[in-house]
Amino acid sequence: MSKIVAAEMLKPGEIVLKDFSIPQIEDDAILMKVAAVGICGSDKHMFTGKMNVTWPLIPGHELSGIVEKIGKNANNTMKIVGGNLKEGDAITVTPGSQSCSKCWYCVHVPHRPQLCPNRTVFGFRTSKDFPHLFGAFSEYMYLPGNSFVLKLPEGLSLQRATLCEPLSVAQRAISRGLSPGIPNAGEGIGIGVRCLVMGVGPIGLLVVATLRSMGVGEIIVVDASKERLDFSKKFGATQLIDISEVGVEDRKDKILSLTDNVGPDVVIECAGAPSAFSEGLDLVRRGGKLIEVGHYGDPGSVDIRPHQVCNKDVDILGSWAYPQVQFEPAIEMLLRTDLPIDDIFTHKMSLENIQQGIEITGTSECLKVIVSP
Ligand SMILES: [Zn+2]
Ligand SMILES: [Zn+2]
Repeated sequence: MSKIVAAEMLKPGEIVLKDFSIPQIEDDAILMKVAAVGICGSDKHMFTGKMNVTWPLIPGHELSGIVEKIGKNANNTMKIVGGNLKEGDAITVTPGSQSCSKCWYCVHVPHRPQLCPNRTVFGFRTSKDFPHLFGAFSEYMYLPGNSFVLKLPEGLSLQRATLCEPLSVAQRAISRGLSPGIPNAGEGIGIGVRCLVMGVGPIGLLVVATLRSMGVGEIIVVDASKERLDFSKKFGATQLIDISEVGVEDRKDKILSLTDNVGPDVVIECAGAPSAFSEGLDLVRRGGKLIEVGHYGDPGSVDIRPHQVCNKDVDILGSWAYPQVQFEPAIEMLLRTDLPIDDIFTHKMSLENIQQGIEITGTSECLKVIVSP
């Protein structure tokens, strides 16, 4: 190898393959050969100019790889799950770097490290920073000493391991709805409860898969894509409602009829549409929980009736990313699930076709594009 090829996004709508020189690694860093990377909806949002980032950058944050070179201090400075690393190990790395441990959030709420504003994030960090290789749409990535790395267990494919990231988003959202210490007596997500999942793109699908794995009961899903609804059955959905065919009042009737006329115990909003949030609030049963994980972008506002929040005695819970260690239960589930999880990879691409991969992401025939650089 004399050069490293990476796909650099220069501005919205423009992504080009470019040669980068092979970096000397610092003593605390790792040079990782990228094995596989999934294309995320946020990569598409970036490409279409709906995300506030510093250009240019190399996208790609749902990834797995092989340790190519490791600095002699990396095992001391990095946070690592699974024991010390050596060259040749299969790994994944969380997009967010370690939190700074000094800011207000790190001092006061260290169990929510994703709130630290001083982290850098692979796939979103500008490639102006030296040595540039901070995204996985690339043959190699440079992992600085403050990275959070997980060794992949035997039996987990490098392709499937790329799902650690979106699955962590899904699992963190679900964990917000657990009621630790309270036995399953009508509180939160648990065995046999009835859930409504609004929107079954990749995150919604992985929410469905996790709920199914946890033993919840009825999983009602709503979406505007027939293909996605049909697919969600594979991951454990029990009732499908196509919102392009069933109007708001009719779907409310249908959902009430499936839930003893009270509404779902838990509603998880994964669509990222403001109207879905207010509809979810209208549907969730009294004493239930409404979890919001769809709005990573900000598409605007919606009217809600605060009386419903009060009268329903409802818990509304936001979920932003995840603590990095969420990757560990994600790996466990990916390793052990009996669900046909790899079927989510509907398209495979090479780095040369990355633009095409970004363009089809989010369309109804595409669930997840996987790229092998
Ligand atoms: Zn993502
Ligand atoms: Zn901090």
